[in-house]
Amino acid sequence: MALVQARIAKAARRAGRDPAAVALVAVAKTHDATTVAAAIAAGQRRFGENRVQEAEAKFPALKACHPALELHLIGPLQSNKVKDACALFDVIETLDRARLARALADQGAKTGRLPRLYVQVNTGEEAQKAGCAPRDLAAFLAACRRDYGLTVEGLMCIPPIDEEPGLHFALLHKLATENGLSGLSMGMSHDYERAVELGATLVRVGTAIFGRRP
Ligand SMILES: *Cc1c(COP(=O)(O)O)cnc(C)c1O
Repeated sequence: MALVQARIAKAARRAGRDPAAVALVAVAKTHDATTVAAAIAAGQRRFGENRVQEAEAKFPALKACHPALELHLIGPLQSNKVKDACALFDVIETLDRARLARALADQGAKTGRLPRLYVQVNTGEEAQKAGCAPRDLAAFLAACRRDYGLTVEGLMCIPPIDEEPGLHFALLHKLATENGLSGLSMGMSHDYERAVELGATLVRVGTAIFGRRP
């Protein structure tokens, strides 16, 4: 983790950015609570999970002991899991459709608590991948604001595996700027330094911290 943090800082300085403007989300999916506890002991506070149920099995106890933990949902969210996700996660990075926006808004109205929100953008326009299409983004953001009263903090993307990620990071940065958003969640183990150079404010790193997933 210290190594990843050091590389983030170095990449930020290379790009003339403040290293403090980039936060590391340690992606803990498939790793057990003991592994997460060790990362917490080493000073890590932000974690990412891609499934609500898996997070529910690990994080409530850890959060009870460490109230400063910040948990990010980085996988697809089904509408029927919105209630559980809102109760556990601090940030949801995968808002991508009106139905989900409505469900989140309803849940927020009911409980007075809503996680911070990022819209996932399908920058590669891949049929099998979740995310709002780039050309639909402005209208979707407007609907989130106007129709559902949601505040969106930033954008998130997962570039296609077989393409130069820098093109997708640059596109996400451009879309965020055009839409007046400051948060940029982009970059994983193999490309987070590139993402930091291109403006990431959150990088989501699993393998480079915890090793290969079982
Ligand atoms: C698993 C996952 C990551 C982390 O991937 P690594 O290659 O292990 O760093 C980042 N983002 C999302 C959305 C993921 O599902």
